[in-house]
Amino acid sequence: MKKTVAFSKNAVNVFFHILTRCNLKCSHCYINKKEHGENTLPIDTIEAWLEVFASKKREANVIFLGGEPTLHPDLPKAIKKAKSIGYSSITVDTNGYLFHDILSKVDPDDIDYFSFSLDGATRKTNDTIRGKGSYDTCIAGIRKTVLRGFTTSLIYTVSTKNIHELEMVAPLLKDLGIHRFFIQVIGIRGKSAENRQENLQVSRIQWLKTIPEIAQKISRLGITVIYPKVFLNPDEPFECAGLVAENYFIFPNGRVYRCPLCEDFPLHSLRLKDDVLVDTPRINENDLFALHIPEGCVMNRLVQPENLSYNSDGTPKYKIACCLLKEQIRSKES
Ligand code: SF4
Ligand code: SF4
Repeated sequence: MKKTVAFSKNAVNVFFHILTRCNLKCSHCYINKKEHGENTLPIDTIEAWLEVFASKKREANVIFLGGEPTLHPDLPKAIKKAKSIGYSSITVDTNGYLFHDILSKVDPDDIDYFSFSLDGATRKTNDTIRGKGSYDTCIAGIRKTVLRGFTTSLIYTVSTKNIHELEMVAPLLKDLGIHRFFIQVIGIRGKSAENRQENLQVSRIQWLKTIPEIAQKISRLGITVIYPKVFLNPDEPFECAGLVAENYFIFPNGRVYRCPLCEDFPLHSLRLKDDVLVDTPRINENDLFALHIPEGCVMNRLVQPENLSYNSDGTPKYKIACCLLKEQIRSKES
């Protein structure tokens, strides 16, 4: 059954970049070392920051990110800490290289999802985007992870370079034993913002013609599919997650954002200072969340206006949804 997943008012979601270092150099990488530094957080700091966001009253979920988080030798300790202080779900996003023998240092009971990234159904397309050898390593990593009894998801970031292979991923997902499939839309940030002339974002027409149908097809294989809503009709309600939900995007230099589209700029509204979460001075992202514009998302209007379109009277033809608003199709089997 397909449904739009409203922003949870009862959960805290922590997107925790424990380092920015990575072994790959994906052409669309959103990590911006100029803004977020190059340091690897010591385990004591990771544990202290996990404590800051562990909510006693509400559900708290953590996603460990990088860079490549398995490059951090103390990731297993961080996972066990999150588990012991009551995080409801723990996910590790990985490029599949699974460094430091991570699979033998954590248990399937410790971790809800290992989430892998693949950006093509074929070696050629994936490796053009993510680097030579990354397809084979990721596939081998998924197989090993499933074999050891962990639950897995796969993230496919759709761009003009790989949308033609999205449908071909279906049999691969089934063969690999993937439980959840995330289709992501490419954001014009990090390297994609530097290479704007590449026109990586697919058009609205192509997105609407392709994504919902393929998502339905994949869900029929018994896999839950989640994809961003992206486009809203003018009469559909718009909500900014920055105003109504508790999402925290944490970077190793202490910056904490509420909105991922702000991450290329020093617009973070919070900061971790001496292991305490403090507000940052204005102007910051909070000032942008409060603006109401007919195009929907304010940050989209500022950083990637190419995806907007206007009527002859100047009114927008549609609105852009918050990038955190998702459609979810749950398979009957999941
Ligand atoms: S694996 Fe992730 S962090 Fe590493 S280069 Fe690719 S997109 Fe960037
Ligand atoms: S993506 Fe847009 S709507 Fe969503 S939190 Fe950021 S500014 Fe708000």
